[in-house]
Amino acid sequence: MPGKRPIAAPIAAPIASEAPLEASLLERLTHNQNYPIASLYVIATPIGNLADMTLRGLECLRRVDAVAAEDTRSAKRLLVEYGISKPCFAAHRHNERAAAAEIIARLAQGQRVAYISDAGTPAISDPGAKLVEAVIAAGMRVVPIPGTSAVTCALSASGLGDGPFYFVGFLPARRAQARAIAVSLASMQAQLVFYEAPHRVLQTVTLFADVFGTARRLVLARELTKIFEEIVHLTLGDAHTWLLADANRQRGEFVLIVEGAPPGQDPLLQALPILVRLLEKLPLSEAVTLAAEVTHAPRNELYAHALKIRADEPDNTGL
Ligand code: SAM
Repeated sequence: MPGKRPIAAPIAAPIASEAPLEASLLERLTHNQNYPIASLYVIATPIGNLADMTLRGLECLRRVDAVAAEDTRSAKRLLVEYGISKPCFAAHRHNERAAAAEIIARLAQGQRVAYISDAGTPAISDPGAKLVEAVIAAGMRVVPIPGTSAVTCALSASGLGDGPFYFVGFLPARRAQARAIAVSLASMQAQLVFYEAPHRVLQTVTLFADVFGTARRLVLARELTKIFEEIVHLTLGDAHTWLLADANRQRGEFVLIVEGAPPGQDPLLQALPILVRLLEKLPLSEAVTLAAEVTHAPRNELYAHALKIRADEPDNTGL
């Protein structure tokens, strides 16, 4: 039976007998570490709860000569919270080439440079990958400083088992493209992990129910590590109603984890990825006929899916 499992964010009162995190503890845990010069430090930052910054990440931020950031204003706010003052420069999706050149020039002078995105782990549905690629190509060192990421955070509390998972990240805004990707994943037995924005979550769960079937389990993880954190277990068939039942449920940031396809699945799920490939090369009815012949999936259902895949409508025209 589908059910909601709300999790109240714990608010722990400070324990009087315990000292706050001591500088000496920080020093003890971080002083034996290696902080090579001429290196780019790719540092994970919290996804909501500022206490989720790692000690090593903090120490790196203290030691670097400069911080390259997806957004320098939010980076400065973050650094202020931790009492760190560093020169910051922008490195976002629209200036990655120039930012890479600046990072490489600094590394060539023997500097340490940090890269942080707005939240979580850089290069996970965030800028950073191109910078890393450029630094590696320039023969310089990249040091990962792990920490929070919404994908691992949600998976660790999903209760869907420890089997394989496939991280999709954000689906494209164009719905036919989103549908084509969902369809191509329909028979995958791994858990499917998606990031989603609040204004699209309703249409995305509706798409999932349509493509993956209403019986599949969904874990919807909202506002992870924040005060209104909520992790709910639903079926895809119930998700739409659940989201509409309270306006607050469509607010915030979302990770959606869809249970993988069951083994020994029905022919339609097997057929959908094949249909997507055939539609890339053939006219619609030929693709449907061929997919039905090869997979023995019902032709009318394949036809309905094919029509939706081909309907390349903009994001805002309804499903
Ligand atoms: N680099 C980040 C990471 O490591 O998770 C992801 C950045 S991506 C631009 C932002 C998306 O991640 C959000 O739209 C949401 O889907 C997901 N996300 C980030 N923080 C979250 C949170 N606190 N709770 C749930 N999802 C979150």
